Amino acid sequence: KDVLLEIRDLQTHFLTDRGEVPAVDGVDLYIRKGEILGVVGESGCGKSVTSLSIMKLIPQPPGKIAGGSIRYKDEELTTAKEKRMKMLRGNEISMIFQEPMTSLNPLLTVGEQIGEAYRLHRKASRKHTRLYTIDMLNRVGIPRPEQIVDEYPHRLSGGMRQRVMIAIALCCEPELLIADEPTTALDVTIQAQILDLMKKLNRETGTAIMLITHDLGVVAEMCSRVAVMYAGKVVEEGPVKDIFRDPRHPYTKGLIRSIPRMDIEQKQLYSIPGNVPSPGSITQGCRFAPRCEHAMDKCHELMPELKLADYDHRSRCWLEQGDAEG
Ligand code: SF4
Ligand code: MG
Repeated sequence: KDVLLEIRDLQTHFLTDRGEVPAVDGVDLYIRKGEILGVVGESGCGKSVTSLSIMKLIPQPPGKIAGGSIRYKDEELTTAKEKRMKMLRGNEISMIFQEPMTSLNPLLTVGEQIGEAYRLHRKASRKHTRLYTIDMLNRVGIPRPEQIVDEYPHRLSGGMRQRVMIAIALCCEPELLIADEPTTALDVTIQAQILDLMKKLNRETGTAIMLITHDLGVVAEMCSRVAVMYAGKVVEEGPVKDIFRDPRHPYTKGLIRSIPRMDIEQKQLYSIPGNVPSPGSITQGCRFAPRCEHAMDKCHELMPELKLADYDHRSRCWLEQGDAEG
């Protein structure tokens, strides 16, 4: 299946005044070469912590990777040295965030920031770097790149800044781009443009994208596969079309039901009752049980495994696997 990155039973914990709590509590997921994988879930379910764990950018302390494995190609990242991670970051695995302004350096021009990333990994000459930078700006759809290359970030709109972030992230042709809610801070029209751009670049360059979002509409537009996270775990995972057509986990069903629809008049938008539990507050059984209308006694006692429900489609729910387990 040509796996590029595989996460198994990842545990990322944070030290809080309530003790050590698992923000990521046994995540299993993988991403194939060149694909766009969606990672969805409500805020606080561990999506961002998972992506920061891959990059080894968890603030340590209070955070730490407490267990499990992250394999990139043939390499274990959880035990990789910082020197090695520096080589990988930006070069093989890149990341973009929700708010580009906080990740851009206000004191450097757009060109200097793209060039810095490029020169660090490629040791290119200044002249070549400048030409390459202008070409990158062109590819991410920035108008008048010969002028913008010398501008400072604050002179650009939010959408243009996010394009610059994408140019920085992709300038070394990484194998994997992790995009954490990359369009959430932008207005709807710009959102659509940035998503189109990411899709186009994925097709052109073959860079795999792990797209983290709370928006299943975005997943439907962009992704071939999706992993649904809840309370620090993946609860369902599979091809997007299968998950929309035949969701297996009650949480996924609830998320799909809460997508606003244009074709029917809705008096009130559905939302899943209750809240995401705070990390570590439920230690036994299915983490979704307090909000699940199908919860059985067993659900409160034992955690179901993430198991094959159908070809290439896995779900973590006793409704699916109850009988086999007795
Ligand atoms: Fe609901 Fe039980 Fe399935 Fe959890 S395991 S989602 S509580 S039916
Ligand atoms: Mg987040």
